[in-house]
Amino acid sequence: SKTAYVRTKPHLNIGTMGHVDHGKTTLTAAITKVLAGRGTGTFVPFDRIDRAPEEAARGITINIAHVEYETDTRHYAHVDMPGHADYVKNMVTGAAQLDGAILVVSALDGIMPQTAEHVLLARQVGVDHIVVALNKADGAGDEELVDLVELEVRDLLTAQGYAGDAVPVVRVSGLRALEGDPRWTASIEALLDAVDTYVPMPERYLDAPFLMPVENVLTITGRGTVVTGAVERGTLRVGDRVAVLGADGVETVVTGLETFGRPMEQAQAGDNVAVLLRGVPRDAVRRGHVVAAPGSVTPERRFTARVYVLAGREGGRTTPIATGYRPQFYIRTADVPGEIDLGAAAVVRPGETAELRVELGREVPLEPGLGFAVREGGRTVGAGTVVSVGP
Ligand code: GDP
Ligand code: MG
Repeated sequence: SKTAYVRTKPHLNIGTMGHVDHGKTTLTAAITKVLAGRGTGTFVPFDRIDRAPEEAARGITINIAHVEYETDTRHYAHVDMPGHADYVKNMVTGAAQLDGAILVVSALDGIMPQTAEHVLLARQVGVDHIVVALNKADGAGDEELVDLVELEVRDLLTAQGYAGDAVPVVRVSGLRALEGDPRWTASIEALLDAVDTYVPMPERYLDAPFLMPVENVLTITGRGTVVTGAVERGTLRVGDRVAVLGADGVETVVTGLETFGRPMEQAQAGDNVAVLLRGVPRDAVRRGHVVAAPGSVTPERRFTARVYVLAGREGGRTTPIATGYRPQFYIRTADVPGEIDLGAAAVVRPGETAELRVELGREVPLEPGLGFAVREGGRTVGAGTVVSVGP
């Protein structure tokens, strides 16, 4: 049978972000290769990251690939997302729950539109620490050009409120490290050291009532329905009672707990877990629902929020929004339509922040401080924070 997960080191969630083709997936594979060489990880090849096996086998959309590994001091879950839309969905909503991020920038191409957008989104969802991997350094003949790219990245980070001068920028080659080249293997080690030292251990709310947004739902033949996600707060053990919010608040019992395919005794805030639920039909629960300690949260439809409306150059709208505007709200893993009410204000223009009222099309668990994204026609047009909940 499978070996149990034993918690020996602090656990953090990190992920690669950056423009398409700058080498996020190659770098992710290279990190696992280098750490497998050290004996603290399992090598995950490129095509297993880029196309998670569950996707083909189970016919569900897994738009977020997790790998796990350990450095000398920490255990990491690392997410790599295949496309730009997946970043918006998983990162902006906080579903990815990143404690830190590796911004991958091709040293050959420099900052591209998605580089800038991911930094903006990271800032808005509270990813406070970014480490830069200046990738494809193997192909950059001209050091001065790479110096310029580095400056450009530091400026971008500073402009978005990061400590651009202090952020570690490490020149790496994911591709060469993956091929086993010693020089570039050392560059990946240097990158991991930077992540270990620069990204601090976040505060975990272990004493709070358990809450986990549902990212995916699977059926394990003979065992039942499994929900997966990142634990937002609290702890969970086999035998605990939970409510599935969104599914008429159905209450059930946890009959199994796993992380990365290994059974675990206790899941806690920050962990990526699979939770086996007793007697819950497969179609009664879906992405966007929330599994929580019974009675600890009440779903609501109405709330007051502070919303930043993205400017046109940030990929947002070019025209203002007004009362009656009905976009989609991405809250945790949920995607819900809703209508806004600006009160006395006539309009909010792109690039402005406003306090407004929202009425959602269905109830979801809400609380002050919770972040969300506002989307329209498949793009992000705003980023918000819940101020207060209720009518
Ligand atoms: P992603 O879209 O950001 O995940 O990028 P991929 O990891 O899929 O890489 C895109 C392309 O860049 C592929 O053809 C890779 O082989 C290539 N690539 C990735 N990393 C490096 C690198 O360090 N050096 C060079 N020369 N090419 C790389
Ligand atoms: Mg990729």
